[in-house]
Amino acid sequence: MTVQLADHVVIGAGIVGLATAEALQRATGGRALVLEMEGRVAPHQTGHNSGVLHSGLYYRPGSLKARLCTEGREAMVRLCEEEGVAFERTGKLVVAVTDSERPALDELARRGEANGLEGIQRLEGLETLREVEPAVAGCAGLWIPQTGIVDYVGACRALQRRIEAGGGRVELRRRVTGLKRAGHAWRVEAEGAVETPHLVNCAGAWSDRVARLAGLEPKVRIVPFRGEYHLLAPEAAGLVRGLIYPVPDPRFPFLGVHLTRMVTGEVEAGPNAVLALSRRGYRWTDVSLRDLASTLSYPGAWRLFARHAATGLGEIHRSLSRRAFARALRRLVPALRDEHLLPAGSGVRAQALGPDGKLLDDFAFERAPGALHVLCAPSPAATASLAIGEEIARVALEPLG
Ligand SMILES: Cc1cc2nc3c(=O)[nH]c(=O)nc-3n(C[C@H](O)[C@H](O)[C@H](O)COP(=O)(O)OP(=O)(O)OC[C@H]3O[C@@H](n4cnc5c(N)ncnc54)[C@H](O)[C@@H]3O)c2cc1C
Repeated sequence: MTVQLADHVVIGAGIVGLATAEALQRATGGRALVLEMEGRVAPHQTGHNSGVLHSGLYYRPGSLKARLCTEGREAMVRLCEEEGVAFERTGKLVVAVTDSERPALDELARRGEANGLEGIQRLEGLETLREVEPAVAGCAGLWIPQTGIVDYVGACRALQRRIEAGGGRVELRRRVTGLKRAGHAWRVEAEGAVETPHLVNCAGAWSDRVARLAGLEPKVRIVPFRGEYHLLAPEAAGLVRGLIYPVPDPRFPFLGVHLTRMVTGEVEAGPNAVLALSRRGYRWTDVSLRDLASTLSYPGAWRLFARHAATGLGEIHRSLSRRAFARALRRLVPALRDEHLLPAGSGVRAQALGPDGKLLDDFAFERAPGALHVLCAPSPAATASLAIGEEIARVALEPLG
């Protein structure tokens, strides 16, 4: 049997894997082979996200996440401009609905400034908010000019073109099922064998399993959470001009349904967050016994459920009841009616969870000889992907101390 050779093998053709392959090729002049188990690029998280180019407002100043988001955001804008990928710098409105949310709004403004965001505007009173978003409700807000919307699948296709132009390949329907160290190389089984001195695991929701194939015992486990969306019916889409967000709960920055006008012109509402019963759990009926057993046998998952039972039940209620989902949105836009919400798609978040039940909130990886495993690339990893790719390439190419 012939063995394919590659200078770098990257597992997963989501936006992080593609950005990493492209950065590795640029750094070394070598050729990367990206192995993707599904039949297209960006089939999972990247192709099912909210399509927002995040500003970096929320993240702790000085954190890796804050730096990668800022650098990656501007790099993504350049990629879109150079490659003709649809994007728009829409700006975003964060709304304090009640006076009790004002301190959190102030803290966000401080963080944004510490993260180098220029031109943040503090908006006072309903009239001022309505100059930006005519149908919104609230008492104060922040206007963030740097936020935008992006066609991330288009960005992935652009990265694929760049990888191929540099001599690399993106091969679909090649699921990695085995990883073995062979001297100074890795032997990768993926519908045929590949040998490479450099392996990078960017397998998203499957990254812990791929790490285990390579003999690691990762400290975290991936627990899938589904985020469900609704589309606003055409007669209600005019109620939203751009992006309207609530003040986030710092314990769960990814919770809190928001309204997003997408590059297609449609307005999406959501996502919520409910436990997915499969790593491909896009609907309640998608169940994988293996994935469910993996979640339920993990003490960290039970600690999370016990600690946040009320929040979790609220999310399940909004998942099963359009009326409850609409009620949450009416806090921001009172004119929205239940029947304005049409079912739309969903995305499955690869949430890395520690054994203590804590959600990993920053980019995390583990290294082994000749290999780097990305075990957590949470939102805003699509925004930050090009900076994350540079960072992974830099670390992966450093000799292991
Ligand atoms: C609902 C939702 C909304 C979000 N909204 C935003 C947003 O608006 N803005 C933002 O910046 N971020 C957002 N995010 C986060 C962002 O989308 C993800 O952090 C990012 O897409 C992660 O990219 P990835 O390449 O790591 O993972 P993925 O896109 O999931 O890619 C992993 C790939 O690995 C492949 N793979 C897995 N196992 C194997 C194997 N054994 N062999 C071969 N291939 C394999 C999978 O098929 C998959 O294609 C959102 C995420 C979700 C879920």
